[in-house]
Amino acid sequence: MIKSMGLVLSIFPYSESSLILKVLSWDRAQISIIAKGWRKKQQPILRFVEYEFTLYEPKEEGLYLLKELSQSRDYSSYASTSTWAAAEAGAELCARIIIPPSDAKQYYTLLTQYLLYLAPMQENAILIFWRLMLRLFSMMGIGIRLQRCDTCTLSKEPFAYDASGEIICQDCLQELSWSERYTPFSPTSKKVLRLLPEIANHLQDIHLTRSDVAELNQLFLSYYAAHQKQTLKLKSLSVLSQFYV
Ligand SMILES: [Zn+2]
Repeated sequence: MIKSMGLVLSIFPYSESSLILKVLSWDRAQISIIAKGWRKKQQPILRFVEYEFTLYEPKEEGLYLLKELSQSRDYSSYASTSTWAAAEAGAELCARIIIPPSDAKQYYTLLTQYLLYLAPMQENAILIFWRLMLRLFSMMGIGIRLQRCDTCTLSKEPFAYDASGEIICQDCLQELSWSERYTPFSPTSKKVLRLLPEIANHLQDIHLTRSDVAELNQLFLSYYAAHQKQTLKLKSLSVLSQFYV
């Protein structure tokens, strides 16, 4: 039997009376837990709540078996629906990426700090989501450099990007006779890319349209796909994007 602290990312019903929990564990990265007979119990298990779990190690199917749990911290309240969607997007992202168990604590801290930061925000939470992506990429060893041209490798303002998330400056694109391989960034997207590492200080200065949001999502997702050789589709990110007009 083991004890592990973990944040519940998602919950699925399993058979008549059981639940499967997808949990980001403090010391084991992502784990799946079966809570047998739990649907009939008084004590509900909630998403975005951190619990101290007592578990039996997996025998088959890789599922931990829940013995008992106690609530430690609640990360489930957000100031607006769009902020809730940003919390969902962060959780979905952390459920999807590969986290080595030896680095679990770092990722756990990053996600819980993200959720805490979001909680009181009314709007523009997607900016904090992109900052989360930036930090996750760098933890994963695929850090994205937002102020460097991938063609001339100089520190320059990004001007456009391609389907693999490569960034190009205006001079280089001009030399390529404005190749259609690249999509130019909107002025707001450029501003976000410039300010993203310290975006928390600029939340009030940025007014995103749906097309800015689509552009930056596209950049980050294509960059991830090109560097991880795996496409990343986040349902909750599409939901989050619907809040922008
Ligand atoms: Zn260049």
